[in-house]
Amino acid sequence: NTIIHNGQTKQQIISRQDKVGMIARDLVYDLRQAIYHDELTVVYQPKHHRAGHIVGVEALVRWTHPRYGFVSPAMLVMLAEDSGDINKLGRWVFEHCCIAKAKWNALGHQNLTMAINISPLQLSDNALPTFLSGCVTKYGLHPEEIELEITESSEISDSQQVEKILQEISDIGIHLAMDDFGMGYSSLLHMRRFKVNAIKIDGSITRDVLTNSTNADIIRTISALGKAQKVSVVAEYVETKEQREALLEMGCDIFQGYYHSPPLKPEDCPRYFLSHRHEVAE
Ligand code: C2E
Ligand code: MG
Ligand code: MG
Ligand code: MG
Repeated sequence: NTIIHNGQTKQQIISRQDKVGMIARDLVYDLRQAIYHDELTVVYQPKHHRAGHIVGVEALVRWTHPRYGFVSPAMLVMLAEDSGDINKLGRWVFEHCCIAKAKWNALGHQNLTMAINISPLQLSDNALPTFLSGCVTKYGLHPEEIELEITESSEISDSQQVEKILQEISDIGIHLAMDDFGMGYSSLLHMRRFKVNAIKIDGSITRDVLTNSTNADIIRTISALGKAQKVSVVAEYVETKEQREALLEMGCDIFQGYYHSPPLKPEDCPRYFLSHRHEVAE
């Protein structure tokens, strides 16, 4: 039993790997159950106009595992992508958001958009557009009130299938936003291939806006592109007033981040919407 890594024996490492594999299998199984039994939740992070008022929210899925505790959405999405449950998860989140949106509309918040993240893998599901339009109709929403945030990835850039699905979604009237813009590749190409309504600059770029002049140049360039293409430019990870001011000066249109608000529980949203309806930026 010779020590082979970090003071651990081969046997110890193998048994640790077994344990990791077991936890992953547990999680996949329990996630499936959680979707089925409606045990996931969704929180909503406000997005603010450059003038100050709120313009919409982004839905972010949350899952607390009974034994392992909080599972990050990045992990959750990865597990679901691997296990083949991503369409189920995506549909659960979408329908859940439509229900919340319908409630808020009844309170007079039709003008706020609901942005929902979708995994690029969901775009290989031919039945997705029909599901989306069915859901929108079922809850009495207008498709323009919904925006799908798509992370650029190799899946998106390669396939004609994906292009067809995105076209169908866009024909329904649902808006599309490129998420994490500037991080992947060929992001500029996508803009030629399907109608994009918004681009969200990746948080890792906006985060260092005050200290990294290259990032500042990238943000100015993306903003100019947005202006030329008549597409709104969203800055995420806006944590301070100084960052907001810099991003505003660089031409960003919409701001999201802890400076304005963390993601909110659904029951806290209506009060927030009311109090930030006419807010004017300082
Ligand atoms: P994203 O779409 O880029 O979402 C933004 C992430 O930044 C969220 O993390 C949000 O909580 C976090 N964030 C917001 N403001 C700030 C800030 O000021 N500073 C910092 N440091 N972080 C901030 P979260 O909720 O952990 O989600 C991570 C990623 O998981 C999301 O990135 C998205 O790609 C994915 N995701 C979340 N919910 C869903 C979902 O329902 N479906 C799919 N397919 N993906 C989802
Ligand atoms: Mg997003
Ligand atoms: Mg993002
Ligand atoms: Mg991200």
